Amino acid sequence: MKKRIFIGIFIIFIAVIAVYFFYKHEKKTPINPVIVIGLDGADWHILNPLFRKGELPNLNRLTKEGSSGVLHTIRPTKSPVIWTSIATGKTMLKHGVLDWTYVKENNIEIPYNVNDRKVKAVWKILSERNFSVGSINWFCTFPAEKVNGYIISDRFRIGVDKFSEGDEVTFPTELNDKLYPKIVKIQDKQYGKLKREEKIVDFLNKSKRDKIDLPQNRDIQLKRFRRYFIQDKSIENVSLFLLNKVPVDFFTVYFRLIDTTSHFASIFLKEGLRDKWVAENKKLRGPSPETEKMLYEDMANIMKPIYRYMDNIVGRIIEKAKEDTIFVVISDHGFNFSIQGYNHYGTPEIPHGIIILNGPGIKSGYKISNSHVYDITPTLLHIFGLPVARDMDGKVILSALEKKRKVRYIQTYETKTSKQKPKKERESDKKVIEDLKSLGYIK
Ligand SMILES: [Zn+2]
Repeated sequence: MKKRIFIGIFIIFIAVIAVYFFYKHEKKTPINPVIVIGLDGADWHILNPLFRKGELPNLNRLTKEGSSGVLHTIRPTKSPVIWTSIATGKTMLKHGVLDWTYVKENNIEIPYNVNDRKVKAVWKILSERNFSVGSINWFCTFPAEKVNGYIISDRFRIGVDKFSEGDEVTFPTELNDKLYPKIVKIQDKQYGKLKREEKIVDFLNKSKRDKIDLPQNRDIQLKRFRRYFIQDKSIENVSLFLLNKVPVDFFTVYFRLIDTTSHFASIFLKEGLRDKWVAENKKLRGPSPETEKMLYEDMANIMKPIYRYMDNIVGRIIEKAKEDTIFVVISDHGFNFSIQGYNHYGTPEIPHGIIILNGPGIKSGYKISNSHVYDITPTLLHIFGLPVARDMDGKVILSALEKKRKVRYIQTYETKTSKQKPKKERESDKKVIEDLKSLGYIK
């Protein structure tokens, strides 16, 4: 009898030790820090011609020395839907963000926000597994969630016009006041200095110089260009500041200037070329392959200052990062020339995005052939030594990894705690709606 009790205690003892080591291992596998940079609308059709001309040294190097390819996207190619799929590994039906906005009672339009997202974002999962995280400017992150690290929500950038609701724009809340000086305000003198520094503001004068007759919606987009620019500039300032001050295991930031500029950039196409495209639209319902090639070449020239500006940011982020960092650069979609214009929604063919992976354990010079927006979160979890959830819709991009560690699975990371909080209308909702209208996303 005594012997049996002894064996029982011994087994329990071993089990406790096993569980302890299992969790210790799960939390503290030696890991590489990971930095994810989201460039809305970035497209290989523009990147490649610029690489060939020796432009964009940072993105070019990350591509050449890493793994890269087309990131297959989904319809509707609406940014909040796709970026949320990227951050959760799940379809829109599971994550619940279906569009830019939805209509509440009395025709009041409300932008989707974090409370509409029904599932956990990758930074929340990592945070719950004791990794430190920082997420900046990602779609549907307002009000900022509590994490082991910080969240700068996508409402923070509205501060270029006016200081936004202090409480929930960032987590921790004190960050909002601390980071506010990093915002380049629309009325700022700083902006005058940027003009010389960045050159890209030239877009504002280009239409006058070239005497382009602007359709009304294009005119609004062009006038808003300055705002979009200083929003991204502010996000850049905040990112570099936080990378310096608060090192984290997982850092992610989203920029949208490539997308917002691409939406009106076709007004600068060479006149003869544009006419040719319009004529072929009528005849062939889109440009011929030869014309398309010329259109992309011309567009690469037009978009060069913007891509250069982004490349510069990528370079500065690399400088601030630890040496053993893994970089992930992605876009949610590209842009197509079609009967719909130079666009990414309503186009006959779906314009896919880009993916670049670079760093320790990532293959060099490898072409990724079948990656999908749903694969980003599973791949990130795998890199952090965590299992992939079976309720995610993507897979680990194993082909780009040097050592094939076995993929582990769990059923789900979701917990029962309901996220649906009562919604209140917010003052900054109006700003967001106005912004979306100017881009033609909503009417
Ligand atoms: Zn987009």
